[in-house]
Amino acid sequence: AAKTDGRGCARTFNRAMLLLLEQRENLRRSLRMALERGELYLEYQPFIRPPSSVIGFEALLRWRHPEIGVIPPGVFIPIAEADGLMDEIGRWVLEEACRQALTWPSSMTVAVNLSPAQFLSGSLTDTVAQIVDTVGIRADRLELEITEKILLEKTIDNIDTLNTLNVLGIRISLDDFGTYYSSLSYLKNFPFDTLKIDQYFIVDLESDLKSQTIVRSIINLAHGLGISVTAEGVETSAQARWLIKENCDCLQGNFLGRPIGIEAIGDFIKRVPTRVGRAMEQTNGAG
Ligand code: C2E
Ligand code: MG
Ligand code: MG
Ligand code: MG
Repeated sequence: AAKTDGRGCARTFNRAMLLLLEQRENLRRSLRMALERGELYLEYQPFIRPPSSVIGFEALLRWRHPEIGVIPPGVFIPIAEADGLMDEIGRWVLEEACRQALTWPSSMTVAVNLSPAQFLSGSLTDTVAQIVDTVGIRADRLELEITEKILLEKTIDNIDTLNTLNVLGIRISLDDFGTYYSSLSYLKNFPFDTLKIDQYFIVDLESDLKSQTIVRSIINLAHGLGISVTAEGVETSAQARWLIKENCDCLQGNFLGRPIGIEAIGDFIKRVPTRVGRAMEQTNGAG
């Protein structure tokens, strides 16, 4: 028990690193098979237009690993990216999300996150157009979420890609706004329909005046440019009420609804107005 010296620590650390690497290698190998084995599936998180209308859902990818259980996208998407699998997986996500959205009321949109691999493949617009056509979904029901990371390279091509999608009638959202470079030139040059304010600025809205100022400014800036604003990661009724007061167009987060399976959507749509309405009223009543 006395041998907890520097070398012991280094050994433990190396063993832990080795385990991690082995795990990663195992995941990488089973991920190659996950798609054909039907282990990937989508959950859906609602978009709520204040006070309580469901206007659509965002598709979020999950992997039900036979031994490990459900693995979140933050863990396996980087592996899929590094392994060149994300273009194919992303195509599956697009088609699956469009097909499942056909079972919802026709006013509701479905948002799909795009990975850099899909965006840089050069065939994104063809793939999207073909899927929309095959599935038979109205183009304006599909929303593609991209992050600023994607826009860093090949700017001219990117503008072309987004403009083509825009002409097809597909909506484009800028996801995680505020966490990357947030260059204002993106807002000037790209045809975004929606800007999603990252949870980073929402989480401390109640206590942090700087977050309030930043969120208020983003909303005003976006509205001035004719872009709609969604707040991500809304967890409390106080955050929701503040955002509504500041004219935020759309709210998303665990307070409004956690990601759910496709089978739970019908029930969710039926219950949400009462549930959200009641939660907001209760806090109002309590002060
Ligand atoms: P994102 O697109 O910004 O999605 C929001 C993430 O925040 C989701 O995590 C969601 O479950 C989580 N979230 C939502 N509301 C709350 C809240 O109130 N509190 C907290 N703490 N978290 C909340 P998830 O599902 O683990 O996804 C993480 C990221 O993985 C996504 O971030 C997105 O960038 C990526 N991702 C998910 N699905 C796909 C996909 O099909 N393709 C690609 N390329 N990326 C995906
Ligand atoms: Mg997203
Ligand atoms: Mg986001
Ligand atoms: Mg985020």
